[in-house]
Amino acid sequence: MTLSINNLSKTYGNGVKALQDISLDIPTGMFGLLGPNGAGKSTLMRTIATLQDADTGSITLGDLNVLTQKHELRKVLGYLPQQFGLYPRISAQVLLDHLAVLKGITNKGERNELVKALLHKTNLYEKRKHNLGGFSGGMKQRFGIAQALLTNPKLLIVDEPTAGLDPMERNRFYNLLCELGENTVVILSTHIVDDVKELCTNMAIINQGQLLLKGKPLDVIDNIEGKVYQKTIKKEELEHYKQQYTTISDKLFLGKPVINILSDTDPGNGFIAVPASLEDVYFTQLNNNN
Ligand code: ADP
Repeated sequence: MTLSINNLSKTYGNGVKALQDISLDIPTGMFGLLGPNGAGKSTLMRTIATLQDADTGSITLGDLNVLTQKHELRKVLGYLPQQFGLYPRISAQVLLDHLAVLKGITNKGERNELVKALLHKTNLYEKRKHNLGGFSGGMKQRFGIAQALLTNPKLLIVDEPTAGLDPMERNRFYNLLCELGENTVVILSTHIVDDVKELCTNMAIINQGQLLLKGKPLDVIDNIEGKVYQKTIKKEELEHYKQQYTTISDKLFLGKPVINILSDTDPGNGFIAVPASLEDVYFTQLNNNN
């Protein structure tokens, strides 16, 4: 199963070009859509999820025409939006059961089995009788996945799912997604580079509605391997270095700026070669685009 996006464009009424001629093939497995805030990720996710229309272009999932066969697509879609409302005074089990009814699972026995299995799968079974209002961020996200799985989706879209999760909750959420990626097209949209590095077999970077890069994380890292150099400098030297070198990024380490630069040859001057990272790839692409 492949999700194919072809020449997709969307300009909002206010003139913002949220998607500019995006083409992408997304196979079964975990796919990371990486980009800064405002890049167009949610617009793309919502368009694939049939919640809004594009101006031009097409999307297919296997034989399905996503943009015209919306009803059919929704039957095989699981969607976890960036923000979703939960009824705080209802228990996880009751709400999941209710949502299952809405999805058309009318047989009570079948529904009970499914709800129980999904609560186990998302590690919420112990808390099934607790009200959702008392759930932590991670538990809410896992509940979001449980509801997205009610239809046994072939396509699962999760939009910025790890924002606000603590490291342990994030890990648990990752593990759950990885399991699902084995036989589903899972699209994870995020601005967190580590999410993609740790999870995804394929990825793309978008910015200002444009596709900057697509490929496998290890391959795109490989493309700049041996070209990344690093140096700890003084604060007042930062501007000078930025002008002198192709700077990838600068960040503070123990209060001092550490800069990463891109260079085909050893720049000397106290720089040391460091292994390339996905973050280096990401910032290189964004710098070239801005
Ligand atoms: P991301 O999810 O990557 O943060 P979005 O798809 O939400 O990006 O937004 C892409 C761009 O489109 C941003 O500049 C945003 O301000 C703009 N945008 C998003 N939704 C709307 C809308 N309904 N009307 C007008 N502009 C919008």
